[in-house]
Amino acid sequence: MVDQSLRGFLDDLEARGDLHRITRSVDPRFEIGAILALRDRGPAQLFQNVAGHALPLVGNLFNGRDRIARALGVQAGDLDAHCQEALRRPVPPRIVATAPVQEVVRRQDLDLGRLLPVPHWFEREAAPYITAGVIVAKDPETGRRNVSIARLRLEGGARLLAGIARNHHLAILAEKARSRGRSLEIAVAIGNHAAVLLGSQMYVALGEDEFDIAGGLLGAPVDLVACKTVDLEVPAAAEIVLEGVLDPDQTIPEGPVSEFPGFYVDYGPGIGVEIRCVTQRHDAIYQAILPGLAAEHCLLGAVAIGATLTRDLRRVIPAVRRVFVTEGGMGRLHAVIAMHRPRLGEGKCAALLAFGTVNLLKLITVVDDDIDPEDSRAVEWSLAARFRGHEDLIVLPGVKADRCDPVHENLVVTKVAMVATTRPGDGEPHGRSEFARPPRDILDRVTRDLASY
Ligand code: MN
Repeated sequence: MVDQSLRGFLDDLEARGDLHRITRSVDPRFEIGAILALRDRGPAQLFQNVAGHALPLVGNLFNGRDRIARALGVQAGDLDAHCQEALRRPVPPRIVATAPVQEVVRRQDLDLGRLLPVPHWFEREAAPYITAGVIVAKDPETGRRNVSIARLRLEGGARLLAGIARNHHLAILAEKARSRGRSLEIAVAIGNHAAVLLGSQMYVALGEDEFDIAGGLLGAPVDLVACKTVDLEVPAAAEIVLEGVLDPDQTIPEGPVSEFPGFYVDYGPGIGVEIRCVTQRHDAIYQAILPGLAAEHCLLGAVAIGATLTRDLRRVIPAVRRVFVTEGGMGRLHAVIAMHRPRLGEGKCAALLAFGTVNLLKLITVVDDDIDPEDSRAVEWSLAARFRGHEDLIVLPGVKADRCDPVHENLVVTKVAMVATTRPGDGEPHGRSEFARPPRDILDRVTRDLASY
């Protein structure tokens, strides 16, 4: 039996000294955010005593590729291959009758700010945000499920503001509901297994159920339980679930909110949400993802975007081996594409296809697959050794940008690609890019026996 909760991973972290317990009282207003930010890439942080709250809070859980991999039971180097396998072989969820997440059911006095230790993150944000809420909804037209994460701001009592970009599937479902004169039922699962979190971030088509991908990542069907008040199913092993409706006719001005580039942005109005039921484990742990420019926030997106782009590009251009979305590019904006012996001009095709597939991307470096795209020094070496600026550079001004891009003007941005791959023939013996090495047989023998020297 696969542990589908967060708890097995917390135990695993603790056993390896990678879970830091904070016993002193910590204020959810700015103090938790400050600690998580100062320990952005360090051990996971378990706040056992959140001032004014009964529930503990855990943060900085998935702030490294090695952490995400470990939570999925694979080696760090196998994370991308594991994601490819999950995308290739999704596993549909199964419905279970009883669930830990429904040990406690509350339908009255739903003061979310009192029930949950939701941090107020940054100075200019107007209120606390739920940042690790996995939102489940169904397409009013097709009945197909959608699973995604969006920021949810506490608006007092049982009300929330949902901040959703217009192109996100949840916004499309809300619009479909609105055109039918209805609101959209949602359920928000907080405190999830890495497979559910990462699965929810995969860039799959509308109508593809992200829980199927989560099942692939988990290696077993995700156990779902029917909600108490809405026609939706949620992960049975989650810590907390909020059930309610998203009302697309209810808009709330948001004001400044943090975004992954690290800046405040003002996206205009968000959508109103009314929560009608809260279910939880009796000893629930509240999970938070530090928003803004933070390792976990950037990485969950980076791993998911890289995995889906690798799949999508390879379908069209088999020479593509891997798409790696870099952390320096905030896990969203920059990518390295590794290709195996690309034909002349094929690197440019791959870059253009990536731009066309993921709106967010604006700087792509294409390298040969003898380069590890995770090694930024090797990627730069490729630029020095294989890139001819006058013909390997693509500069595309005025391309539609994502609203998150920090330098977009009127929602367009300049997209740049650098193709730093070997020209066909360049690497051949006596060519100008032949690597200097000892004779092959000697190198092979020494490599084999290296430990004996
Ligand atoms: Mn979707």
